[in-house]
Amino acid sequence: MWFDTHAHLYLLLDLAESALPDRVTIERELSPILQKAKEEGVRGIICPGIDRSTSELAITIADLFPSFVWAAVGIHPNSASQGTEEDWDVITQLATHPKVVAIGETGLDWFRNYTPRDQQVTWFRRHIELSRHVNKPLIVHCRDAEDDMTAILHEVAVSGKCIGVMHACAARWETVEQWLDFGMFVSFAGSVTFSNKKHLFVRETACRVPLERLLIETDCPFLVPEPLRGRTSVCLPSNIALTGTFLAKLRNVPVPDLAQVTSANAATLFQLG
Ligand SMILES: [Zn+2]
Repeated sequence: MWFDTHAHLYLLLDLAESALPDRVTIERELSPILQKAKEEGVRGIICPGIDRSTSELAITIADLFPSFVWAAVGIHPNSASQGTEEDWDVITQLATHPKVVAIGETGLDWFRNYTPRDQQVTWFRRHIELSRHVNKPLIVHCRDAEDDMTAILHEVAVSGKCIGVMHACAARWETVEQWLDFGMFVSFAGSVTFSNKKHLFVRETACRVPLERLLIETDCPFLVPEPLRGRTSVCLPSNIALTGTFLAKLRNVPVPDLAQVTSANAATLFQLG
């Protein structure tokens, strides 16, 4: 059984309307997608918010699909410039909600410049503090910001415990080795299956992460894994088996073993009991 540790399920809904979709619409639109995921062997999904309204949606989805979807609340670095103090108050309150098992998505994105870097750092630090305060792990996005990420995590690790997952890992082993030392888990998405040269080092990293810290995810609706890449533009939680099977072959372990261990790791990190 697979566990998808990162799926933006609300992005599969029609969010073009200014009003947020109601529970009936959400249930109607997501039921077939989640049913298909179950049929493909998915036993659980973490749905992280990227701002206040999607954090609220993530909780609604978790509520509608109990014991299958869990929520994370946070403000993504690329949404952070839009974040207000009121939004943060709401996120802080939502953080203690029983369906919320993690804080995020947060982190640093030096690839996009939607939010000035100093603001991204400030918001990331707030999420770290909140994670410690409510004792729930962080879900961390890091794009082209490895050195600054390592510096912040190092500083945090010195002052106390910091747990979480580096999601859709695209970093070199020398960097990831340090993140593991700080206590982080590492999750791989469909990008590990990409065969173009600029992605190949991700495979080396994926081979070396110790099994007991390894997680997998779809990053739905992004990062469609091979061989679906190019044939569809939307990645679904049911596609997790493609990434999981690829990773198992890469690491030379039986597919059911990789599925079992990564699912157990997810249950441990997110305290799913
Ligand atoms: Zn994400």
